[in-house]
Amino acid sequence: MKKSLAMLAFLTFASVAPCFALDVVYPKTQTVTINSPKTFFAGSADVKKTLTINGAEVQVDKSGGFARSVKLDEGENIFELKSDDEVLRYVITRPKATASSAVENRFVEFDNLKYGKISADNTPLRSTPIDGGINRVSHLQAGTLLVTDGEQNGFYRVILGENSVGWVDKNSVEITPNGTSLADFYGYDYIDGDDYFTFIFHLNRRIPWEIREGENQSLEIKLYNVSGEAENVYFYDFPTKLATGGRNLVGYGAEYVGEDLHVKIRKPLKINPKKPLKNVVVTIDAGHGGSELGAVGCLGNKEKDLNLTNAKKLERVLNSKGAKVVMTRSDDRDMSLAERVKVANDSESAVFISLHGNSIPDNGDPEKSRGFGVYYYYPEAKPLGEYILHNMQSKLPLENNGLIQASFYVVRNTQALSLLIEAGYMVNPEDNAKLLNKKVQKQLAKSVADGLEEYFRSQQRSF
Ligand SMILES: [Zn+2]
Repeated sequence: MKKSLAMLAFLTFASVAPCFALDVVYPKTQTVTINSPKTFFAGSADVKKTLTINGAEVQVDKSGGFARSVKLDEGENIFELKSDDEVLRYVITRPKATASSAVENRFVEFDNLKYGKISADNTPLRSTPIDGGINRVSHLQAGTLLVTDGEQNGFYRVILGENSVGWVDKNSVEITPNGTSLADFYGYDYIDGDDYFTFIFHLNRRIPWEIREGENQSLEIKLYNVSGEAENVYFYDFPTKLATGGRNLVGYGAEYVGEDLHVKIRKPLKINPKKPLKNVVVTIDAGHGGSELGAVGCLGNKEKDLNLTNAKKLERVLNSKGAKVVMTRSDDRDMSLAERVKVANDSESAVFISLHGNSIPDNGDPEKSRGFGVYYYYPEAKPLGEYILHNMQSKLPLENNGLIQASFYVVRNTQALSLLIEAGYMVNPEDNAKLLNKKVQKQLAKSVADGLEEYFRSQQRSF
């Protein structure tokens, strides 16, 4: 509020020449609490005027954007941003450090085993009692039965056979008065269909499972807590070439239908070498939308708009290459992550690409944060990511931050080959100016489309 009054006053009195008014997009308000030894300012100013923060000159990019890191002392920090006669005053409070009152976070073992049932679909089974990072073993469905021997940090420790354990958020488990530890396994069937190879493991109850991509084109399937198996684990090492003909995996997933676990492995697409993307179903996801702006660029531009622009450009290029494009959104609207995943899975898309612009945390450094990155979660999507990254590196005037494994909801829960692309840092003035450049946007779309095309050309199905 203060800021707009100041700007109004400025516009009223400085009527001689049209000016690019000083505007700050971060911090969002002029009085703010930030619990960090450093933070930053980002915004826009007239490039012809000298911009200072507490007297120190700040370079303004020719696009008008600026960004500068600042140190914070404990207590109140006052910052004065001056662009000639325009002045904006910020009061940033860094709370005083207090002695940590955190309860000691140790494992508490139960006197007796407890039995429980997963209460919601998509509940992560984790390898460590931490909510975050790449520690997911699998996602468990409602009704999956568990045995737990203790708790830590809000997680139950779950018994997985005789020699391993996993962790499940206590809020996702309903403890039952009694239960049994082991399931019966009655063998498996498979269906060798046109598009999918499906295993059906017959059980008498839903138990925790794990599927990993093994070293030499295999899928390691483990069913935990099965009676009569060594260490109570049923292990099946499936050579994926039976389903893929030796090509890369292009998607797999598992779900219970009743008490049977269905493991579906997608078969590689039949590729036309002259038009490798012909009829390939690709979901393009423009990140954020509606009330969720995403990152805000130095010039006040919003990530949700940039993502949509880039998504539409990519849609056009992919259409011209014969792909069947599905958009999670084609206009500015609110959309949950679950809805985006549903669009990709319902359309049985072979590829899911989520487009974003990067943001940084309160204590990030906008001057040093620059460049694009491609993110995958499942190893099967890594080769596709490499093709796209290689194209981005050769076509885009931005730094390359590489191919990175990370746990994004939309990438993790889609059954397609899934990637998330961060095109650049919107809070970095130079990156942001490039991201707004139509030529760069066109090159981004072309990079992704060419990468997809090269990947599928390399994956022609030979049977
Ligand atoms: Zn984003």
